[in-house]
Amino acid sequence: MNLTITDVRLTPILVADPPLLNTQGVHQPYTPRLIVEVETAEGVVGVGETYGDTKYLDLARPFAAELIGRQVGDLNGLFTVADQVAVDSSRVSGQVDVGGLRGVQTADKLRLSVVSGFEVACLDALGKALGLPVHALLGGKVRDAVDYSAYLFYKWAAHPEGVVCEKDDWGAAVDPAGVVAQARLFTERYGFTSFKLKGGVFPPDEEIAAVRALAEAFPGQPLRLDPNGAWSVATSLRVAEELGDVLEYLEDPALGTAAMAEVSAGTDVPLATNMCVTTFAEIKEAFARDAVQVVLSDHHYWGGLRNTQQLAAICRTFGVGVSMHSNTHLGISLAAMTHVASTVPNLHHACDSHYPWQSEDVLTERLVFEGGAVRVSDAPGLGVEVDREKVALLHRRWLDDDGSLRERDDGAAMRVAEPGWVTPAVPRW
Ligand SMILES: [Mg+2]
Repeated sequence: MNLTITDVRLTPILVADPPLLNTQGVHQPYTPRLIVEVETAEGVVGVGETYGDTKYLDLARPFAAELIGRQVGDLNGLFTVADQVAVDSSRVSGQVDVGGLRGVQTADKLRLSVVSGFEVACLDALGKALGLPVHALLGGKVRDAVDYSAYLFYKWAAHPEGVVCEKDDWGAAVDPAGVVAQARLFTERYGFTSFKLKGGVFPPDEEIAAVRALAEAFPGQPLRLDPNGAWSVATSLRVAEELGDVLEYLEDPALGTAAMAEVSAGTDVPLATNMCVTTFAEIKEAFARDAVQVVLSDHHYWGGLRNTQQLAAICRTFGVGVSMHSNTHLGISLAAMTHVASTVPNLHHACDSHYPWQSEDVLTERLVFEGGAVRVSDAPGLGVEVDREKVALLHRRWLDDDGSLRERDDGAAMRVAEPGWVTPAVPRW
């Protein structure tokens, strides 16, 4: 069996995205993703997916060139390649990632996000070549299906008038009744039984009212609220006090480990994060200060599926819970998340996924949620098949773009509706 990589293809695409609101603005009508394909000498093709903004592409291109001639099973070698690929760190160091809402962006985080796309593609190719599912390559699944939560967003009914976009059928959600109606749609369409509301959009009392309305509509079902660090410590503690009886956890109420540690010391409501613990280097201080009780992994941030397993092992060691974070993604990443989540023994919370918001995908068949869960595929590799025509269509959209949509910028999208919009300083409330 010849597992030498002979070709690597990178295809940036633009995917339709509804007008979902967050503390920094609103999703643009199209969002960039990068499809990674790795081909072996015997013609086996593995696929991966990661962020598609230009700064990721700029790293992924030299990375791809370095992979030719390497073995598809040399997953540790991907990190060596990443170190070799020059990073213009002056462009990224210390900048706050305005779109990704993932804490301070560093060259290392960019690099690991690029590695993840290639790691998943290599695992898919290796699995296909060996006739084994990706979960088997990761040591085997410990569950047959992975639970996901309904990812509720405040949203407009449509993007602002005049913006070229695809229509969605979710309607508006800008108050408690709208949020509950959206949650009902999620349960009807996908069977989700836990709910997360993206907050930090309206003043805290309005969001408290929305979570209260959810608790009344879905008594006893797990609820989460995630304002992306928009609140002060005092506001975070007030919200925790008011919603403590109904929250499964509060996600990143305040920004940074120090603020999270202060909040944590003042409440029994568990705190989750995908903002203050996003790299291995950030774990020690956060755990030592008991700043978070649940880490939301994201295989894109953390450098792939095997790093996600390592993170889960560290969390297990320290008695910290683990679940999965999501940014806008397609079916390749949902399949990858599901494989790795199926191998994590200490996964005690349903994972987040934006997938229901994406009406477009690059797969021949969309993945399905049944009872809020995705079944773990036992087919070779990820168990998904890419539709080349769909990839070509979404790539054509990327080619035709004048550049304004190739970088995710929620603030810019908000300024279309509100010309005076300035990305709010944190804490906002
Ligand atoms: Mg979050």
